[in-house]
Parts: sequence; C-alpha cells; structure tokens
Amino acid sequence: MGGKTLFSKIIDREIPADIVYEDDECLAFRDINPQAPTHVLLIPKKPIAMVSEATVADTALLGMLLLKAGDVARQLGCEEAFRLVVNNGAGAGQTVFHLHIHILAGRPLGWPPG
Ligand code: 5GP
Repeated sequence: MGGKTLFSKIIDREIPADIVYEDDECLAFRDINPQAPTHVLLIPKKPIAMVSEATVADTALLGMLLLKAGDVARQLGCEEAFRLVVNNGAGAGQTVFHLHIHILAGRPLGWPPG
C-alpha cells in the first residue's frame, strides 16, 4: 500500500494531463481513453481511495465535488445533459484508487448503464 496514486501525480504535475479546471480542493482533466465526446475526470486533491473509504469528515468535500461537477459541465457547455459516474471498487470497474467522478457528455447515454 502507500505511494502516490496516478492522479496524485497528475495533481503534482509529475504526469501531464489536459486540465480543464483547478482550485485549491479539486482538479478536472480529460480522460486519456474517452468514452464520450466529453469525458472529464473530477478529483479531490485529498487522496481518498474511493467513496466507501470517505468519512463523515469528508462530507463537505463530497458535496463540493458534486457542485463542481455541475460547474465543470457548464464550463464545457454540456450542462443540459451529462452523466456522472463513480466506480467504487475493482468489481465496479475502478482502476485508479483515487476517488474520481467521471463527467460524460456529448452522445446519447443509454440506461441501464451496464
Ligand atoms: P476508473 O476505471 O478507475 O473508474 O477510471 C479511471 C479512469 O482513468 C479511466 O477512465 C482511464 O481511462 C483514466 N486514466 C487512466 N490513466 C490515465 C492517465 O494517465 N491520464 C488520464 N488523463 N486518464 C487516465
């Protein structure tokens, strides 16, 4: 365990990324393998591994992330229709263990998501 996550390295500019938004608490950047015309990852700078490892101390941070997701969608011009996805755990498709919200938009998004 331990060591920096890939996304912490992006925060620290050790790995390049196409950053679309940043403030003191979070960072948003384009996914390297986009699943929609707009596919951005929004992450807290605090390295929480996944939603199920967040604690009550993270309540404000988690709420802020949802608000920021709306702001980023607006900034990218896709506020009318976008999907937020949070994979929690390998069985749900999580591959990077630094909490992130996928912001997907720009094509019809089917339901159920699969
Ligand atoms: P997860 O599968 O954990 O929910 O999502 C991880 C996401 O990170 C994937 O959609 C994957 O394409 C993206 N990703 C993996 N490595 C990199 C990288 O080095 N740069 C960027 N921008 N995205 C990455």
